[in-house]
Amino acid sequence: MRIFTASIATETNTFSPIPTAMENYLTCVAFRPGEHPADQPTLCSAPLFVARRRATQEGFTLVEGSCFFAQPAGPTTRVAYETMRDEILGQLQAALPLDGVLLGMHGAMVAGGYDDCEGDVLERVRALVGPKCVIGVELDPHNHMTLKRVGLADIIICFKEYPHVDIVPRAEELVTLVLKTIRGEIRPVASLYDCGMIAFYPTTSEPNTSFVARQKSFEGHDGVLSVSFVHGFPHADVPEMGSRMLVYTDNAKAQGDALAIRLGEEIVALRGRTAPPNLDFVDALDQALATDTATGPAIIAEPADNAGGGSASDNTMSLRELVARGVENAAVAPLWDPMAVGFCHAVGAGARLRLRIGGKTSELSGDPFDADCEVLAVAKDCHQSFGEAKGPVGDLAAVRIGGVTVVMNTNRAQALGRELFTALGLDPASYRLLVLKSAQHFMAAYGPLASRVFYSETQGPSTQRYEKHSYDRIARPKWPIDAEAPGALIL
Ligand SMILES: [Zn+2]
Repeated sequence: MRIFTASIATETNTFSPIPTAMENYLTCVAFRPGEHPADQPTLCSAPLFVARRRATQEGFTLVEGSCFFAQPAGPTTRVAYETMRDEILGQLQAALPLDGVLLGMHGAMVAGGYDDCEGDVLERVRALVGPKCVIGVELDPHNHMTLKRVGLADIIICFKEYPHVDIVPRAEELVTLVLKTIRGEIRPVASLYDCGMIAFYPTTSEPNTSFVARQKSFEGHDGVLSVSFVHGFPHADVPEMGSRMLVYTDNAKAQGDALAIRLGEEIVALRGRTAPPNLDFVDALDQALATDTATGPAIIAEPADNAGGGSASDNTMSLRELVARGVENAAVAPLWDPMAVGFCHAVGAGARLRLRIGGKTSELSGDPFDADCEVLAVAKDCHQSFGEAKGPVGDLAAVRIGGVTVVMNTNRAQALGRELFTALGLDPASYRLLVLKSAQHFMAAYGPLASRVFYSETQGPSTQRYEKHSYDRIARPKWPIDAEAPGALIL
């Protein structure tokens, strides 16, 4: 048995001002065959990571292709996408004949000339491997689950948890189902329900925590192979953007349809109740400052300026408000400003300087913030953890402005691991208030520290107030932009 695996992934925010070029993949994740680290998967390379171990256990030959991932931003350039795609297709062609293909993709990648990069990859892979080869795909739930890709793959599995702490167990399931399909033990058949909506579904809070358990409760018996709830990625103006329910049964289409409709309708019934309150930043700050922080810092998340959703992470609204109000013992992290970090490294820890911070990428970044700063600490070439994965944050610098510490980085990234502070000798638990530029993934490492967590609205292309996005191409009606937007079984 011969199986090929590769990865090509990013999450494209079509409203982001930041272009994505080859360089952004090469400086984030670009492992050529055999180069992938043995000890940890990246966000979208878990199929390779898992299949390596399973190949030895289950006696198949694994052929490794390249793995590419770039930090979410605006559309990938056409030349970068086609270069990576064709590199992988060339490796796949050289590996023929194949019984199976395992692809780690994100699912919301848009490139110049391509609204559905994953559908395009699958179309070309299918043309090379033929109809009998079993193609399995692992996707982030923040994807556009197009009819094209569901039609071309044999089985697609999405992470269930948000924060995505289950990338490895979902890849294990994918490898298991692909192997069973190759051996003729099962025949996966898809059912797809379009919920007609977009929303935010953090699984660290209800009703989403229970819904994850509910999805799992149907899997593995009575012919149900897999249930993926596709959250959708709202920051992309592409036709099939939105929340969908994907069910695979073992050749029991009518039963799969009924389950997809049932679970999809449950999501429709939860409209307006899946997201925690999205407060204006000033209101979140009022509530955070009134919080008893004896057990740990209050945390305010800034989803609108989340680098993990394609934002610049250099908006200055929250920093400006904290300093203007004279807040003590607070920190903002991470703020992307390679130039300011460079200045801090030049003068070193303990120095004082007048620094211009943030507000550089576009009008959504607000005005730069100018202040007299004390450099608290600097560190070179740092990483942060996210579950078993590790991601680069570049060089770090922490400066103090009055009672506010600002952690800045050179490699644009959202707040994931505590290393943003600990790499600088700072203790995140020692603050009264942490303002974190992230939508939800910060919860894995910072949630356990927090006395309370607030989700706030500042400014940026990953705003959760979707009415701020100028959608032209998404299918309508779509709740909450349209009040009436029914769900429907579409496959
Ligand atoms: Zn995601």
